[in-house]
Amino acid sequence: MQKRPTIVIALGGNALVRDGRLDFASQLKSASRALKDIPQILPKWDVVITHGNGPQVGASLIRHHAAKTVTPYPLYACVAETQGSIGYLIETALEEHLQKIGLKHRPVTVITRALVDKGSLAKSPLKPIGHYYSKEELQSARKLRPAAEFRFFKGKGYRLLVPSPEPKEILEATLVRNIVGNNCIPIACGGGGIPVAEVRGRLTGMEAVIDKDLASGLLATAIGADTFVSLTDIEGAYINYESKKRTLLRNVSLEEIRRYYEMGEFAEGSMGPKVLACIRFLEKGGKRAVIAHLDKLKSAVAGKSGTQIANYLA
Ligand code: ADP
Ligand code: MG
Repeated sequence: MQKRPTIVIALGGNALVRDGRLDFASQLKSASRALKDIPQILPKWDVVITHGNGPQVGASLIRHHAAKTVTPYPLYACVAETQGSIGYLIETALEEHLQKIGLKHRPVTVITRALVDKGSLAKSPLKPIGHYYSKEELQSARKLRPAAEFRFFKGKGYRLLVPSPEPKEILEATLVRNIVGNNCIPIACGGGGIPVAEVRGRLTGMEAVIDKDLASGLLATAIGADTFVSLTDIEGAYINYESKKRTLLRNVSLEEIRRYYEMGEFAEGSMGPKVLACIRFLEKGGKRAVIAHLDKLKSAVAGKSGTQIANYLA
């Protein structure tokens, strides 16, 4: 039997948290909406799902901070916690869609680690995460995380700042490659992965966060995916985004989008890493990368919506 092409679909933070609603039932509803097109693409594609965890890991930190009788987890263990709970959410929502039309595919959550270079942490961009602490709360937050840095945001309060290092390798990539297809839909790279680094010959969790798009692109390359799709809350990548003459990029070549990326058209920390993940994926032999709206997965996969980036050489 001819092997079907593999597609990696990255779900943005808003896929699960619409209108800021973080309760479990609302997230389940949002997940169901974001995943509704998956059964329709399964006949043609082997699918891997990845997802962000920004709001959820923030909530997890608050829960740990608020607990008086149990010791809070380090950030990397909170990331692992969210991979499990969000994975379960996606499995539940997706299974329901599959069962409705009698498909036997099984979504499977893979707890995923992203290898980083410990030495790169100090040089990595800092990312604010979690909620805003008042001055009083800051004292206890500092006690819980003595090594952490906090920054004051005017009118809002203090926020935890953590490095966002480059993921070098997705440690469970081979496992994902082995289970994808065969009626299995892996859910991997949650929140970009649990950051780990080698310390004295041992893989050790790091107080850091990984960009989910960079990690997902890396996974897509490692498993030899044909197509990488990043779904978000906007139609695609725009040029002149901040001005009135903003233009949606529809069909672009790798060379063209690389030029726009180098011109600084895509904001750091949001559209920037998405575009960069697409560029890297295509440079390493991927055929097509897409940035599209969450509600338009089917048309995005069909090439009819979003920013479609082609590698004409692959
Ligand atoms: P996700 O949670 O899906 O990763 P992000 O907030 O990180 O979402 O990225 C999507 C956001 O990127 C959009 O909501 C938009 O405000 C912002 N953005 C910045 N620059 C651009 C651009 N040039 N084109 C489109 N969106 C952009
Ligand atoms: Mg993002």
